[in-house]
Amino acid sequence: MAKIMAVNAGSSSIKFQLLEMPEEKVIASGTVEKIGSVDGSGKPLNGIVTLKYNGKKEETTPVIPTHAEGVQLVLDALIDKQILKSLDEINGVGHRIVQGGEYFKDSTLVDGPDGVVVNKIADLADLAPLHNPAHIVGIKAFYKALPKVPEVVVFDTVFHQTMPEEAYMYAIPYEWYTKYGIRKYGAHGTSHKYVSQRAAELIGKPLNETNVIVCHLGNGASISAVEGGKCKDTSMGLTPLEGIPMGTRTGNIDPTVVSYICNKEGKTADEVVNILNKKSGYLGLSGRSNDARDVTEGMNNGDHRCKLTFDVQAKRVADYIASYWLYLGGKVDVIAFTAGMGENLKHLRQKIVARLAPLGVKLDEKLNDTFSDERIISTPDSKIQVWIIPTNEEVMIARDTVRVANIK
Ligand code: ADP
Repeated sequence: MAKIMAVNAGSSSIKFQLLEMPEEKVIASGTVEKIGSVDGSGKPLNGIVTLKYNGKKEETTPVIPTHAEGVQLVLDALIDKQILKSLDEINGVGHRIVQGGEYFKDSTLVDGPDGVVVNKIADLADLAPLHNPAHIVGIKAFYKALPKVPEVVVFDTVFHQTMPEEAYMYAIPYEWYTKYGIRKYGAHGTSHKYVSQRAAELIGKPLNETNVIVCHLGNGASISAVEGGKCKDTSMGLTPLEGIPMGTRTGNIDPTVVSYICNKEGKTADEVVNILNKKSGYLGLSGRSNDARDVTEGMNNGDHRCKLTFDVQAKRVADYIASYWLYLGGKVDVIAFTAGMGENLKHLRQKIVARLAPLGVKLDEKLNDTFSDERIISTPDSKIQVWIIPTNEEVMIARDTVRVANIK
């Protein structure tokens, strides 16, 4: 039996789950938020530490100047609450890393806080400027608190490294690829891997014979075509901006929009791309919110732009599903919905699946009309099964940590 910390460190937050393996039982979970928060005059503001264990949820609001202090607060709480008797019980730490480029083909054991692995993750920060530096801070904070415990990095991009060249290459001057690594890397890979593996288990077919189209529809959203457990194509690209519209991201648009708005509004390209990332998608189109619950409320109150937001989203998602169906040779066992919107928004699933009628896909309206438990939502005569499969990235991180660090 081993205890593994699965960690997702962001620029001002750390999310974690402590799991007992191989049972995959969650012993505790929580978040540390507002790390390094200061007011206008530079005075430190309180952070938020949330801890869930034994069916309880507790919140404290200490000042958390750095990630190292945040990690220490979590570890101290695990002892104080008697979740652990000693920190020696933690056998491994697994970190979610957004960008592993072409360099990392599998989850990897970290060779110390200043070793080759951390340096390589730093080198790849150009492709994930908000995420990779924050992940490194998280790795170093755990090394400081638990210097002898092995740490493993689990990349969102690794699952997509099996895409064939024809799927990951853009039709751009080839030197942009060789000089700068411009290609499709994808994201949410850990989620796509979990959901596609789980889909095979649920329908009782060997993984290497099961084809799944995974629709990860959260605030960030992506779709993958998975053939026999391997990713064949995915909708996110060099960065998470490509693909379907999301909470605040556009998804695919004509790149000329960038220079057009630069000229019209006297903005720089970086400023416009920032708007495409942070003020577009559901937020931009609905003019109301990036949160699908608010947009649903607007739609139910007759707001045209809110309804349009879901129609645009449903069209784009259905277009991707249809094109991946073709790319998978018309052999698709499961279409799986996951993440906040995929699991909870019945009207969006309904709108998407209705567009798939020419492929013989049929939704059971009654099964679709419930909340996020794992379940089939298609009719028995549907040509492709449709499932809701709540994602579980933490369990994948814990599994890989045990495997890669060879923890018994
Ligand atoms: P991310 O992890 O990318 O931040 P999530 O997977 O948490 O995103 O998804 C967030 C989205 O899911 C939001 O648009 C939110 O409105 C939607 N969502 C979450 N829970 C529900 C719910 N119970 N009902 C409807 N929508 C929900």
